[in-house]
Amino acid sequence: MTRGNGDTEKEQSDSPCLRFPASKLLVMDPLNKVKPWVRDIAPYTLKPHRVAIKLNQNENPFDMPAEIKDEVMRRIADRPWSRYPDFEPTSLLEKLAAFSGWRSDGILVGNGSNELIEALLMTVISPSSKVVIPSPTFTLYQLVIRILGGEVIDVPLSSELQFDVPAITTQMTERKADALIICSPNNPTGCVISEGDLRALLKSSDGLIVVDEAYHEFSRSSVVPLLNEFENLVVLRTFSKAMAAAGLRIGYLLASPALVEQINKARLPYNLNFFSHTVAEVAIERFDLLSPLIDKMISERDRLTVELASIDGLKPVPSNANFIVVQTSLSPKRVFDELLKRDILIRDVSKYPMLDNYFRFSVGTPEENDRFVTALREIM
Ligand code: PMP
Repeated sequence: MTRGNGDTEKEQSDSPCLRFPASKLLVMDPLNKVKPWVRDIAPYTLKPHRVAIKLNQNENPFDMPAEIKDEVMRRIADRPWSRYPDFEPTSLLEKLAAFSGWRSDGILVGNGSNELIEALLMTVISPSSKVVIPSPTFTLYQLVIRILGGEVIDVPLSSELQFDVPAITTQMTERKADALIICSPNNPTGCVISEGDLRALLKSSDGLIVVDEAYHEFSRSSVVPLLNEFENLVVLRTFSKAMAAAGLRIGYLLASPALVEQINKARLPYNLNFFSHTVAEVAIERFDLLSPLIDKMISERDRLTVELASIDGLKPVPSNANFIVVQTSLSPKRVFDELLKRDILIRDVSKYPMLDNYFRFSVGTPEENDRFVTALREIM
């Protein structure tokens, strides 16, 4: 068959592009339909590397204890897989309420806390919104805000890589910001906001104050009790770090019930599959098995801080999380490459603001950490 533009059936099947008339191809650039500011945004990506010692994603190096895995498998096998999860994950919400010390109608669960960051921002950000974000921090916040057309107001950390609370307060009030997102402990620098500073910010602002507590277990502190006093506080948590379940994608958001009701509109139905739901429940029930692993990660972090400080050319920044940023006299890329040759993967964070001579690593098992320190001594 011959079409008006001369393409034959044979030619069309050779190239999928030729299924469209050539004239249409010339006028229809689908990128014209993409919001112009989205085209300018750099995507959030991570190169895959298969290595023996993986210290690049702040995961729990100990894996989920076998007793928890076995109990999850038993419950999953007993459940009909052909049925949807419950529309409201009520039993998990109740367990999370008891676990976190906040009310179940003030909690939302998500497919990772990433999804809840997105649901929250979709609910509050419009093209005129302004959000204050200390910088450097987890890059996903600014990515979603910018996709939604909002404005990000960066407030650099202090020269000691701590939150600059006076500068944050000034930006919040002078720019009449709609929200502030504080990652505490902060990824990638490990600093925390003190309760006194957070209280002052919550009192002085009528914007939402979002605290991402993805790593709170490693600081042995939480801002959740402040939810009882401040309706403008939103807290995000995850099962991907201390709770050893990054592969299962479980996060939760805590806020006033009235706000949660609104954010819930942006959450997709059945966003948490029943496998992940079950993992979360059993992990909470058997937190006694996870808690010693968290203690071990904290003591390893403190040991590594001392050991790295004793290596010439390295300056670790004291951290409240399960990762540490380290200032290096060699280029971070060189350290990254040399470690990769030795089958160890870290994160080169030198593209982040203020961190051009830093790398970040997460705390591994004691054996992994020993190999990491030996490798660094060789390289430096
Ligand atoms: N918040 C912070 C600060 C993070 O570092 C990460 C993951 N690296 C997340 C949220 C996302 O976690 P989740 O796996 O729960 O989506």
